[in-house]
Amino acid sequence: MLLGIAVLIAVGMATYIVLPLLSAETAGGSLPVDVTVLGDLKRRRLVVYDNLQDLEFEFQSGKIAPGDYEALRANYLGEATVLMAATQEAEQLKENDAVIEREITARRTQRDVQIKAEYSCPACGYENPLPVKFCGECGARVPAPRKKG
Ligand SMILES: [Zn+2]
Repeated sequence: MLLGIAVLIAVGMATYIVLPLLSAETAGGSLPVDVTVLGDLKRRRLVVYDNLQDLEFEFQSGKIAPGDYEALRANYLGEATVLMAATQEAEQLKENDAVIEREITARRTQRDVQIKAEYSCPACGYENPLPVKFCGECGARVPAPRKKG
């Protein structure tokens, strides 16, 4: 029992360490955090399908009693269903993350534009990238921005 848990943890850790490396190679670029989760789910689904095929084969060759075969098969199919649902959920989360990312980018851009407008120099028109009292380009006084209500 304890050994089984230890093995599971070891496999899980290996998955999280090795899979990102593999996917980074195939994706050839920046690695989103959730790739590991989806990759892990996919790998576990493939394992379940492998087990199902093995089971089918062993049943066909008469190594497994029909009752055991049915029970194991139901077990694997249940596992596959759970993994499918988890995958869909993870993909949904990924989509939500993408929406949030776009929202953040839009707001960040908006904020940057706002700062530029608020701290642009009235004398030379230079857009000071930071809140300043004096223009970084010509040294003229930059009026404090009006406080937003
Ligand atoms: Zn200036």
